[in-house]
Amino acid sequence: MKRELSGIGLTSQRTRARMIERLREQGIRDEAVLAAMAAVPRHIFVEEALAHRAYEDTALPLGFQQTISQPFIVARMIELLRVGRELGKTLEIGAGCGYQAAVLARLAREVYAVERIAPLLDKARANLRQLRLPNVRLKHADGTQGLAQAAPFDTIIVAAAAAKVPPPLMAQLAPGGRMLLPLGGTEQCLCQVERSARGYVETRLDPVRFVPLVAGVE
Ligand code: SAH
Repeated sequence: MKRELSGIGLTSQRTRARMIERLREQGIRDEAVLAAMAAVPRHIFVEEALAHRAYEDTALPLGFQQTISQPFIVARMIELLRVGRELGKTLEIGAGCGYQAAVLARLAREVYAVERIAPLLDKARANLRQLRLPNVRLKHADGTQGLAQAAPFDTIIVAAAAAKVPPPLMAQLAPGGRMLLPLGGTEQCLCQVERSARGYVETRLDPVRFVPLVAGVE
């Protein structure tokens, strides 16, 4: 039993190191992001039957028709969000199983992660408890409304695609703040919104594929 367990541990360490190498090859340059991705055990966030695939660069099913994001897209979005700085107070919309929240927790002062599906949030809570991250707060809420009680946010990251930027998220972004979100339906692209003293600047980036942002909670 003991040998078997340490076997799993070693495999996970090796495959995790390979995942980091692959992220470098794919163009991720921010060492802080790579270190955070290396520190978070992705296998604890996926179903046991899929744990051996946890470090592949692929989205995996979470149940409830949702997926845990592909490591590359998590790294890419956080790298763009950071621009080499600390993330400050961060809002994540679409916590799912909590994987990205765990990566964010290593780079942000505080993370507020919102999820609309209650049983998924329970999973996220159980997963994150194992990692003892004191700066993550999970909320069962509709992220299209943002999280007014904790606003404004220095950074906002959305893990589900909307047709347009939800206005409450624009309003809850602090001046000098930055948001990354997928926009679109069957065709989606990554969008960056920066808020300066003079207003908002939207930039369209890579094509992406995310589950849809759905209003309301269940
Ligand atoms: N961040 C997760 C990705 C989860 S997939 C990871 O680390 O892998 C996207 C999640 O967004 C799903 O769990 C889905 O339920 C959630 N979601 C969709 N619309 C939402 C909304 N309006 N508010 C909050 N969460 C939402």
